[in-house]
Amino acid sequence: MNGQKKIVLSESQIPAQWYNIMAEMPNKPMSILHPGTKQALKPEDLYPIFAEELARQELNQTDMWIDIPEEVREKYKIYRPSPLVRATGLEKALDTPAHIYFKNESVSPVGSHKLNSALAQAYYCKKEGLTNITTETGAGQWGTAMSFAAKVFGLELAVYMVKISYEQKPYRRSLMQTWGAQVVASPSMSTKAGRKILTDHPTYQGSLGTAISEAIELAMQTPDCKYTLGSVLNHVSLHQTVIGLEAEKQMEIAGEYPDIVIGCFGGGSNFSGISFPFMRHNINDGRKTRFIAAEPASCPKLTRGVFQYDFGDEAGYTPLLPMFTLGHNFAPAHIHAGGLRYHGAGTIVSQLMKDGIMEAVDIQQLDSFEAGVLFARTEGIVPAPESSHAIAAAVNEALKAKEEGVQKTILFNLSGHGLVDMTAYDQYFAGDLTNYVLSDGDIAKNVSVLEKII
Ligand SMILES: *Cc1c(COP(=O)(O)O)cnc(C)c1O
Repeated sequence: MNGQKKIVLSESQIPAQWYNIMAEMPNKPMSILHPGTKQALKPEDLYPIFAEELARQELNQTDMWIDIPEEVREKYKIYRPSPLVRATGLEKALDTPAHIYFKNESVSPVGSHKLNSALAQAYYCKKEGLTNITTETGAGQWGTAMSFAAKVFGLELAVYMVKISYEQKPYRRSLMQTWGAQVVASPSMSTKAGRKILTDHPTYQGSLGTAISEAIELAMQTPDCKYTLGSVLNHVSLHQTVIGLEAEKQMEIAGEYPDIVIGCFGGGSNFSGISFPFMRHNINDGRKTRFIAAEPASCPKLTRGVFQYDFGDEAGYTPLLPMFTLGHNFAPAHIHAGGLRYHGAGTIVSQLMKDGIMEAVDIQQLDSFEAGVLFARTEGIVPAPESSHAIAAAVNEALKAKEEGVQKTILFNLSGHGLVDMTAYDQYFAGDLTNYVLSDGDIAKNVSVLEKII
């Protein structure tokens, strides 16, 4: 089987269970705290907002394997198992002795890995008897995934889309509408939170924080309706482990085992998905694989943030999460990798980072585009600007292997394609994109206002 370009599994090889790394972590993530009482959160505390099964998964630190419902596996068959591809064109262009593999999550109908969790979340909401769900979307990828998933399971979805994206990314909105979602530019007049902001600042262009507040408010006020979220949370990372579980089988067929596993990093879901099933073997079997999260230099929570309790949203409505953060009031530069513009990291990944089980690198915007274009020209797929951060990190590792004259096996996750992001490529080719430099002083100022709970 060695030397194969593309390794494809059959539908029957879609994993039957997700892998819950919390059950095996040497140090479990610290408790999520209620923002008012500062007490550790219980699943019941999350029931008003999230589907109950998702709330239980969120805090489940004991069950290592969690069954994927048959109805979800059935829908995964639309695009799973996703192919594992040997990037021979890229290897040749880099003239590297490294073997580079990528897991191609861009084959999902919505163009990214996000559908892996959207389908699971929609299923549990439906099973619980809900009729409606709400969510927010920044760049639009999570909103598109949830739109399709809601349609598949017969739920009505309202998406609050950050106003500036609503206007600048009309095709993401069209996609959501095609799949039947109600898309509202946020801030909107449909919620108290939105009306207040519009009254105070009539021209406000919106933010993820505001959109989250609106989506939660609508869910709380609508009967049989709950809220869904596409990254950061533990249950989202859990669902994404189908990526790495499939990749593990595929690498075995290729006759290789990764020395390095790489994922781009927004809130951590696709990185967790590709990494955790391999990390298992570091934790249990003494494997020495390196795990690298590739984050944007303009939003470097893992490489330059602090480990601290912080809110998950800008407005400070969510529970307090123990995480690497730049501060919930941090406003990242408007880079094109919109999905990576998040101030914090999930609690699992933050603990793994703290314990030295994984590492992180930061990638400048121009380097990410250079790598993305090289990948498009050698492998044919135009990557999402987010995914290009993982490609840039893989290229750096492959060049290092060349310099050192050692064969390394590198696996990265191609989290999505960039076919709806061509404006970003246009701007790159026109020379209109820049790198962003963030001073230590800016970071220190932002995190200094956080409550010191640790
Ligand atoms: C949302 C998104 C990301 C970042 O989110 P994570 O939760 O960190 O994976 C990365 N790539 C693509 C294509 C996305 O849509």
